[in-house]
Amino acid sequence: MNIVHFLSALEFAAEKHKNQKRKDAEASPYINHPIAVAKILAGEGGVTDESLLIAAILHDTVEDTATTSEELLARFGADVAALVGEVTDDKSLPKERRKELQIINAPHKSARAKQLKIADKISNIRDIVSSPPAEWSMARKRGYLHWTNQVVEGCRGMNELLDRLFDVTLTEAGVSLASGGVEKGQ
Ligand code: NDP
Ligand code: ZN
Repeated sequence: MNIVHFLSALEFAAEKHKNQKRKDAEASPYINHPIAVAKILAGEGGVTDESLLIAAILHDTVEDTATTSEELLARFGADVAALVGEVTDDKSLPKERRKELQIINAPHKSARAKQLKIADKISNIRDIVSSPPAEWSMARKRGYLHWTNQVVEGCRGMNELLDRLFDVTLTEAGVSLASGGVEKGQ
């Protein structure tokens, strides 16, 4: 793992996401999320693969900013660009179709893309518990947990640590939502 390569990706993603916020009430800087995903892979999933950790940092650049796949290819190489491509939704499709396709396509992704998707979902579940999108009802949070579990069904078996971490995170999120009980929309 070359730390300069990793930091170059972090610098690139921070610049690309600089005007973007997460959906929580505080409108946190978007870059917090890719950092969290890379940290889950390395710190909790035992991942040391440089391309995978760099792809985690870059995973939402093509989907959510003006970044192109060609740009990633030129700067970070074919391996990283292909990995990011595997976890990038086609934004020209309606949202419901995109969500359906994530479930359908997950089992056909590479082993590394599956791990990245699980880490992404773990990060988003944690956010839904600790800093949820403003105005999300309990039903919507629960809907997200249900959908995310369906996507992860197709990503299992590549990294036991991540599989278990996802299960624990999902279970704890369910308990936390149930005990919260004061969310909007209920
Ligand atoms: P969205 O896809 O609109 O929002 C979730 C996505 O937003 C995450 O995957 C994440 O994507 C990003 N995100 C940014 N900030 C946060 C944050 N603070 N916490 C969590 N995620 C964040 O969700 P949906 O509209 O699809 O709603 C979720 C589910 O709820 C649906 O699957 C549906 O079944 C159900 N539902 C939806 C309703 C609706 O009105 N749409 C109503 C009731 C239920 P990334 O990693 O790419 O940043
Ligand atoms: Zn993400």
